[in-house]
Amino acid sequence: MRTRVVVVGAGVAGSAAAWRLAERGAEVVLVDRFGAGHDKGASHGSSRIYRHAYSNVHYVRLAAQALRGWETLQDLGGERVLELTGAVDHGDPDALQPLADALDSESVPSHFLDPAEAGKRWPGLRFDTQVLWHAAAGRVHADRAVATLQAAATNRGAQVQRERRVLSIETDPTGVRVRTDGGLLEADQVVVAAGAWTSALVGPHLDYPPIRTTQEQPAHFARVDRGRGTEWPSFIHHPGAGYRGPGIYGLDSPDGVKVGEHGTGPEIDPDVRTAADPALLDRLVDHVRHWIPGVDSRTARPVSCLYSTTPDHDFVIDRVGQVTVAGGFSGHGFKFGPALGDLVAELVLDSKPANPLFALNRFRVPARGTTRR
Ligand SMILES: Cc1cc2nc3c(=O)[nH]c(=O)nc-3n(C[C@H](O)[C@H](O)[C@H](O)COP(=O)(O)OP(=O)(O)OC[C@H]3O[C@@H](n4cnc5c(N)ncnc54)[C@H](O)[C@@H]3O)c2cc1C
Repeated sequence: MRTRVVVVGAGVAGSAAAWRLAERGAEVVLVDRFGAGHDKGASHGSSRIYRHAYSNVHYVRLAAQALRGWETLQDLGGERVLELTGAVDHGDPDALQPLADALDSESVPSHFLDPAEAGKRWPGLRFDTQVLWHAAAGRVHADRAVATLQAAATNRGAQVQRERRVLSIETDPTGVRVRTDGGLLEADQVVVAAGAWTSALVGPHLDYPPIRTTQEQPAHFARVDRGRGTEWPSFIHHPGAGYRGPGIYGLDSPDGVKVGEHGTGPEIDPDVRTAADPALLDRLVDHVRHWIPGVDSRTARPVSCLYSTTPDHDFVIDRVGQVTVAGGFSGHGFKFGPALGDLVAELVLDSKPANPLFALNRFRVPARGTTRR
């Protein structure tokens, strides 16, 4: 008997889960309340950073697993979703060394360059500190990746139902009933990957941690080097040394160079979006004027996207009974897409225990005198 699974949410996490579950023989229905390619959640647009550089080796390993998954997906779909352009980290030296150590311990090649050498190689960026470079990084085309994940899932027999909102989930020993505004779906298990809307759906079933939903506002800028082929790695500017603002990320994309502050947007209700904040945009433009000479700072075009941030910025990928949850990606989940699908499939089909880094029980307050984890 094939395991019947309803996956709620067709962003990167739900789409990857649908692919991996269907590939492993499950009977999958992937449901989303909005249409294909919508921009109301977190997975839309033309670019996301892919990189290995994390100070926690678990994420370095997960990035390596995801790389294999992105490559497989490209082979299956014939569409290029990942381009390796390399990545630079600069700013606070105390933030860079742990990244270099973790890359080293997982045998991912990286090296430091001095600021003058880095400035010559990447004239679009300005550096005032040592720069950590690793080549196994770049960008994922987000819209294309989500569409290709869904195509890979449907090729393995999954059904995708769009513009169908899940209203509630009920479980009992005989199975799961997912009530939608288009009727009832029955299954053996349910996966909730509903981004900023996850808490409301899983609340009755498991102890989902408090999540901050913020509306983030990166912007695209026109390159001043158009036609001259300046190399653009993806980049992270860590506050410290000569820079005191918020953490900044960026990368080149088909829409221009995208630059954003990491996690500084206002907390919102995901159903009530607000207009772009001019003060946040001015601060970003100031940063760009000073630190990113390779773009025209007068050309900012802001975009809007949601972060769902957990208290420790690590993800939640865990299962309680027939309900598996994949959420809280805290503004850094996209790059791991296929690996997130693998983790979900292992929870659902193998009943494998959750990776402790992503387990729900890490949020439980320990009883006095006991040690956490
Ligand atoms: C500005 C910005 C920049 C980012 N940059 C990077 C980056 O460079 N690299 C990186 O790795 N990550 C990045 N991220 C993070 C990454 O994009 C997210 O972690 C990831 O997209 C989260 O995907 P998700 O599937 O969990 O959520 P979503 O994409 O929001 O998907 C959830 C889906 O659930 C659906 N849904 C919700 N409720 C229901 C319901 N009741 N019934 C049916 N469907 C429902 C929604 O319609 C939605 O489609 C960035 C995020 C933002 C906002």
